[in-house]
Amino acid sequence: MTTSTIAGDIQLVGLTKKYGASTALNALDLHIPAGSLTVIVGPSGCGKSTLLRVLSGLETATDGELLIGGLPVAGQDAGDRDVAMVFQDYALYPHMTVAANLSFGLRLQARHDRRGGPSKAEIAQRVAQVGGLLGLDKLLHRRPAELSGGQRQRVALGRAIIRRPGVLLLDEPLSALDSQLRASARGEILRLHREIGATLVLVTHDQHEALSMATHLVVMDAGAVAQSGTPEELFHAPATEFVATFVGSPAMNLQPEGDGRVGWRASDARISMADAAGATTPDGLVVEGTTETCEFTGDGQQVTVRTGERVGERGERVDDRSGDRSGDRTFIITQREGERWLRVGDPVRAVIPPSQLHHFDRNGLRRNA
Ligand code: ADP
Repeated sequence: MTTSTIAGDIQLVGLTKKYGASTALNALDLHIPAGSLTVIVGPSGCGKSTLLRVLSGLETATDGELLIGGLPVAGQDAGDRDVAMVFQDYALYPHMTVAANLSFGLRLQARHDRRGGPSKAEIAQRVAQVGGLLGLDKLLHRRPAELSGGQRQRVALGRAIIRRPGVLLLDEPLSALDSQLRASARGEILRLHREIGATLVLVTHDQHEALSMATHLVVMDAGAVAQSGTPEELFHAPATEFVATFVGSPAMNLQPEGDGRVGWRASDARISMADAAGATTPDGLVVEGTTETCEFTGDGQQVTVRTGERVGERGERVDDRSGDRSGDRTFIITQREGERWLRVGDPVRAVIPPSQLHHFDRNGLRRNA
């Protein structure tokens, strides 16, 4: 492992956090590159918030090492960390104006550190700059009660970035916004990341948000990292069944294969006429069934198909009595506009090319191709 002294670089080595007898983080290893927009995603209770709190210094790890900017945080004052955190509930001071909320931390710093702290002029200049960056310039005199949810969130962000931290931590920053605001807030966070050049670590339980924003995606499961890499790597080569079904929507289809399972994405299936019996079987995995539900998605269809018998890779009938309920007798395919439009009850034959198949062993680990 190489340790780096780049500002904003984060290394976690064997990091464990226990609350009494329960383990929230379990010997977690992770590298968060400087300047990345790293998104941490995973089901509820997998340890995302705990990880963020340990990074921020709000919690101390039970075991393991944490290096920020190449320096171990052990023994450091949490306040000296080059890290700022934006909380889920914003927690703005209700009696203060936007300008006063933004400058609060800097004013505190000026009072405690008369010589090294920022001057009044510098504070005013930074409030104006952050206000401009976040589109708050016209709202600086308002109080939080006079702001929309999205505007309040921008004030909370501004309060964190005004200190110019090397690392900015965001805990579910979009969860309080309605879906329209979410899309524009996503864009704003991406723009902010480009402009401030800090490492951004964002926690979400929304895998769509994770895929669309991350330069670096981390999927957590039970207090450990299931896989980390670019969104493309995790989507196209999931290391485990857990990652395969968590990343991407709809979830990857999985069905028994030998002592393990084979997975494929809804969009990778090619639909052919089920009654084309006798036609040369195309190369790949063939699954057959009857359309059970068809959902219109605007630019296409999402279709649930109930399987009858399984058809093998050479077109032979496979009597599948493994009793594995996760094979579940249904699979999902998506059809884009212009492709064959399906209706409930239609017989369907789907072919998945070998290059789009994901093979997992009995432990749910990806088999080497
Ligand atoms: P997530 O953010 O992914 O939902 P958390 O980090 O909040 O998960 O929690 C991880 C695990 O640690 C959960 O099992 C949770 O119950 C437990 N946990 C979190 N905080 C505490 C705490 N203060 N005391 C005891 N257990 C906690």
